[in-house]
Amino acid sequence: MHDSVPAEQRFREDDGCPLFSQALEDHLVAVSRGEAPNRGRFCGNCYTPLSPTTEVCPHCHEDTRTGRKPVTTVPDEVMDILRAQRKTESRWVTWMAYLGLIIALVGGLGPVLFIPALKSSLIWATLVYGLILLIGGRTLAGVLGGYYGDRIGYERARANTRAAWERLLAERG
Ligand SMILES: [Zn+2]
Repeated sequence: MHDSVPAEQRFREDDGCPLFSQALEDHLVAVSRGEAPNRGRFCGNCYTPLSPTTEVCPHCHEDTRTGRKPVTTVPDEVMDILRAQRKTESRWVTWMAYLGLIIALVGGLGPVLFIPALKSSLIWATLVYGLILLIGGRTLAGVLGGYYGDRIGYERARANTRAAWERLLAERG
């Protein structure tokens, strides 16, 4: 159920907002894929899945005996917040990866057009350009998308998630 795709082990930071624990994110992803029902026992504060006997939330440390009582479903609103966050993140990763590919596409033309030996040999020019695209494109897409896109996307998305969390807190009272 929780197949760990490396790309999903992304950058996180502790900024005081308890959304989203890895366990809650995994749960919501499984629910959205229809692999798990949205029922169980969840922290009444941060909605992290809890075992039937857990008394203190391992993520936000809410005490179920003295604090907010556990709930049986995660509110739809929380699912919406996660959906928006992941959408923003993946958009940044995708576009930054494309940017990396474009840089390799354009940059790879340099040697082909300006090195005389390559300019005069179609085969060598094609080979070199192909290699630059394969290696450079892959590397740049990985670095720009997987590293910078991931971080920038996370920061942008996280700001929205924090704001949504504040609204949720205000509504909950
Ligand atoms: Zn919690």
